[in-house]
Amino acid sequence: MSGYRTAAIVTVGTELVRGLAVDTNTAEIAHVVSGAGIDVGETVSVPDDLAVLTGALRRCTASYDLVVVTGGLGPTHDDVTREAAAEALGLTVARDAALKETLRASAARHTDERAAAQVFNQADVIAGATVLPAVCGTAPGQVVPTLRGSLVLLPGPPREMRPILHRLAASWRSVGVEPRVLRCTGLSESDLQMAAQDVLGDRTDIELTVLAKPGDVRVVLFDRGAGAAALDETAAAVAAIVGEPCYSVDGSSLAEVVLSRAHAAGLTLATAESCTGGLVGAALTDVPGSSSAYLGGVVSYSDEAKVTLLGVDPGLISACGAVSDAVAMAMAAGARDALGADYAVSVTGVAGPGGGSPDKPVGTVWFAVAGPDGVRAQIRRFSGDRDSVRERSTTTALDLLRRALPDD
Ligand code: ATP
Repeated sequence: MSGYRTAAIVTVGTELVRGLAVDTNTAEIAHVVSGAGIDVGETVSVPDDLAVLTGALRRCTASYDLVVVTGGLGPTHDDVTREAAAEALGLTVARDAALKETLRASAARHTDERAAAQVFNQADVIAGATVLPAVCGTAPGQVVPTLRGSLVLLPGPPREMRPILHRLAASWRSVGVEPRVLRCTGLSESDLQMAAQDVLGDRTDIELTVLAKPGDVRVVLFDRGAGAAALDETAAAVAAIVGEPCYSVDGSSLAEVVLSRAHAAGLTLATAESCTGGLVGAALTDVPGSSSAYLGGVVSYSDEAKVTLLGVDPGLISACGAVSDAVAMAMAAGARDALGADYAVSVTGVAGPGGGSPDKPVGTVWFAVAGPDGVRAQIRRFSGDRDSVRERSTTTALDLLRRALPDD
């Protein structure tokens, strides 16, 4: 089970190709397979159709070392994956007596005898295959040797597929070099691409991919023969050129970095949020163990809440408006005091679609960080819809906290 260089992923299900269900398996498997240093060259979705699936499997097993298939392993007549795999590889299928025994309890749950009998279809094993026992559910997976490597059959339901995949992937880990992921914020995708390309020059033994979502850009470096040490050196060189906007070289999220910096320095954090409505606090509390540094936050959406919960002077709000540097600073200072934290970040802005004005158009957001050395405010003007403004505001608030905290 070693030496895979290339892989294809095939997802099976008429519901997937008709748009009735979202194919999440492909992304999940691609992540695991790429993470093991295996190059995913192709992903395909096909309906529950024996001829179409057989054709896809014949082509993929001839072209790729590892082919991972999900779906169509259940007991019903439209579950054709075992048959298609056997046909594509010219192999036979036989019912496995031991596996059949494990399915007896599941068969007994059916009142219709025909349905009960169908359950045992899941005990059909392709000649030469290794069975991957079901961890959750009844459908086991199979690993079938091919001329180039292996064809892996996994059940379709993600919660059944996932544990079998992870167990199997443990044996791939040592094969390839895991890609290095650098995460950055506060600079554009193109700028990052240029910086990384400057480091790479014309070398072809490392492949570069840049992935962007609002306010957060990732550089992924895949090994194409350079080896682990060269990949580490290149990642460090890209991080050095990018500088402060690069917040992690090990794939950690911004919230994880903020919490780890605070934890390492023994500092505590608080939040005061208006237009993000708690998204900054949610991002921090998504990280297990966040209570070691994050004390809590105030969602002060109305002017009144800003006054009563954070002690913002109502005169400031009427003089400057709720979206202003003065109010952002008062919110951060208020949250820091109210929660007794070392640092607090605040967000107040116009997320849209309504509420904009000529001097404060939709996308105008003020932030402030209050810390032991005082309070500082910053403005950002984001484009995009409400979701995008809120997402970018969340990232910016976390980034301002990160920059304010001592680097560990
Ligand atoms: P079962 O024993 O449940 O029949 P199976 O291997 O035959 O397992 P399918 O019948 O193909 O799997 O799919 C069962 C359900 O699993 C689908 O209705 C769908 O909700 C989910 N599923 C299948 N494939 C995918 C996929 N690629 N991504 C996300 N969900 C999927």
